[in-house]
Amino acid sequence: MEINGQTRLCGLIGNPVEHTLSPVIHNGLAGETGQNLVYVPFHVTTGLGEAVKGAYALNILGMNVTVPYKQAVIPYLQTIDPLAEAIGAVNTLVRTEGGYKGYNTDMTGLLRAMYSEGIRIREEKILILGAGGAARAVAFLCASEGAGKVWILNRSIEKAEAVAEEVNRHFGRQILEPMTLSDYTKLPEGQFLTIQATSVGLSPAEDEAVIEDEAFYRKVHTGYDLIYRPFTTKFMKLVQKQGRPAYNGLKMLLYQGIIAYELWNGITVSEKNAAQIYQKMKKEMGIHE
Ligand code: NAP
Repeated sequence: MEINGQTRLCGLIGNPVEHTLSPVIHNGLAGETGQNLVYVPFHVTTGLGEAVKGAYALNILGMNVTVPYKQAVIPYLQTIDPLAEAIGAVNTLVRTEGGYKGYNTDMTGLLRAMYSEGIRIREEKILILGAGGAARAVAFLCASEGAGKVWILNRSIEKAEAVAEEVNRHFGRQILEPMTLSDYTKLPEGQFLTIQATSVGLSPAEDEAVIEDEAFYRKVHTGYDLIYRPFTTKFMKLVQKQGRPAYNGLKMLLYQGIIAYELWNGITVSEKNAAQIYQKMKKEMGIHE
C-alpha cells in the first residue's frame, strides 16, 4: 500500500506483542476495504498512561490493548462502554473528543464468532471451564445474552464463586453456579455447550486438557476452546472423539479485530472480507487445511 499524508495509524499496546496476529487482521482489512490505514504493534514495557496520552497526541485513530493492560488501561480512558465496564476489561480504544473510549470487543467478537458457526447462547445450558479474565468476560456475555443456566468450573473455587456472585448480582438473577473443577461428575444430567477458557492446552503444552476424563466429554454437545495455538487443542480432540463439533478461538480473535476495525472506521466488514482475513491468519500460523 502507498503511505501518504492522509494515512491513518492504528496499533496495539501490549507486552509482549511479537507474536500478535492483529497486524494481519487490520492491515489485511485495510487492503480489502480500501481504507488508507496502517496498523503496528507497540511494545509498551513501562508508562502505560504516557503511551495512551502519546497515542492521542499523535492523532492515532484507535488502539487495541492486550495482556497485561486490559484492566490497567481503564483509568486512562475518557469514557467506557457499559459492557466493557461491567466486564472490567478493555481491548479496544476508539478516538473521541478529548480522549479514547474503551470497548471490549473480545466478548462481542466471541459472540459473532459463535453466530458464524451457528452456535446460540440464548436459553442454553452452558459450562465455562476457568474463572480467569477471559472466563469472567464469557460469564458476563452468557448472562447478557440470556443463557438458561451457566455452571462455572475452576480449579480455585474462590475465583469461580467471586465471578458467579458478581454476575448474579449484576443481572439480578441466579444464572451462574460456581463449582470446583474436579466436581464435574456432580453436574446435572444433560448435555452442555462447553466453553474452555482456561490456559491449559496452550502451546507448547499441546497434549494437555483441563479435564482428561472421557466421561466428561459425553456431557458436551458443542465444545468451544478460546485457545487457537495449537489450531486443534486436546480439549477439541476429546470433544470430537465423542462425535461432537469443536471450535478453536481463532474466529473470536478475528471478530474482535473486525469489530474494533468497524468502530474505528465507521464501516461494516462483509462476511466475504472476514473469510479472506481468516484465511490470511491461518496462513500466517502455518495452517494449510
Ligand atoms: P488467566 O486470567 O490467567 O486465567 C487462567 C485460567 O486457567 C484460570 O481459571 C486458572 O485456574 C486456569 N488454569 C491455569 N492452569 C491450570 C491448571 N493446571 N489446571 C486447571 N486450571 C488451570 O487467563 P485468561 O486471560 O483468562 O486466558 C485464558 C485463555 O483464553 C488463554 O489461553 C488465552 O490465550 C485465551 N484467550 C483467547 C482469546 C481469543 O481471542 N481467542 C482472548 C482472550 C483469551 P486458577 O484460577 O485455579 O489458577
